Amino acid sequence: MLPESSTGLYWSIRGHVACNQHAPLVEDPRWGIEGWAPPPSSSQNVRSQRYQCQYCSPEQTALVHAKPDDPSTPSQGA
Ligand SMILES: [Zn+2]
Repeated sequence: MLPESSTGLYWSIRGHVACNQHAPLVEDPRWGIEGWAPPPSSSQNVRSQRYQCQYCSPEQTALVHAKPDDPSTPSQGA
């Protein structure tokens, strides 16, 4: 089981970002070695950037630029 994540994402100290399907299991040694943890919800939509699962992303990128004037952009779960 993975810890609850308010963003639905997990990140590591190595800069990886993954969803609950792609993050290592807590039982996996990688969880501790790579320092995986749920990011704080305040980490999203900072300076028009938000994190996404880099494994689900077609671009394989962990950080995407959100459109600041897009009203459909989710704002931290309201
Ligand atoms: Zn994923």
